[in-house]
Amino acid sequence: MSETDNERHKKRQQKLKEQVDERIRQAQQERGLVVVLTGNGKGKSTSGFGTIARAVGHGQNAAVVQFIKGNWECGERELLSAHGVEFVVMATGFTWETQNKEADKASAQQVWQQAKVMLTNPNLDVVLLDELTYMISYHYLELEEVVAAILQRPQQMSVIITGRGAHRRLIEIADTVSEIQSRKHAFDSGLKARKGIDW
Ligand code: ATP
Ligand code: MG
Repeated sequence: MSETDNERHKKRQQKLKEQVDERIRQAQQERGLVVVLTGNGKGKSTSGFGTIARAVGHGQNAAVVQFIKGNWECGERELLSAHGVEFVVMATGFTWETQNKEADKASAQQVWQQAKVMLTNPNLDVVLLDELTYMISYHYLELEEVVAAILQRPQQMSVIITGRGAHRRLIEIADTVSEIQSRKHAFDSGLKARKGIDW
């Protein structure tokens, strides 16, 4: 790198630093966030669980609600519950395979009752509502009831929602929304879901 390149680089970085510093100065509000992780790409639940691990690493209190029960164990559950993270898991009913709408709806409602209690717990710093979006799209849970519970949560609590096709109302009440786009997925080339990577 020539001297002039270096100078130019330094100027650009300096300017960037000023812009970032200014944005940090402007971010003054302190309250829990609503984060929505949606889109068709892989990484929504991974990101949600990663945030729970981050909070636990800081000694915070976290809870997880899993709205879809897969037929697999879940590595995060083993690890995080050993660290005091409370899990509510849909015990029966809705998986991708079930075809009994009434039974699925009943399971969703049952899990939601427990989620609602969590959303009022002032000791919780972060709650992950994994795969919640489908419960809304399938009309298993009432949208405005879910929205109200989230908006009325204790002030310091953050809520993370994952799942494809997040309802626009969920996007509306969120502070941060990431849409994960799929560019490629191993499944499409016939690769099996992998322990430690996919679950
Ligand atoms: P992950 O749990 O790996 O972060 P996710 O939460 O973003 O995935 P889900 O729609 O909940 O995605 O999918 C759960 C399972 O489906 C995971 O095993 C994941 O690898 C797989 N999966 C995710 N995205 C795709 C995709 N675009 N095509 C095929 N399978 C996918
Ligand atoms: Mg997921």
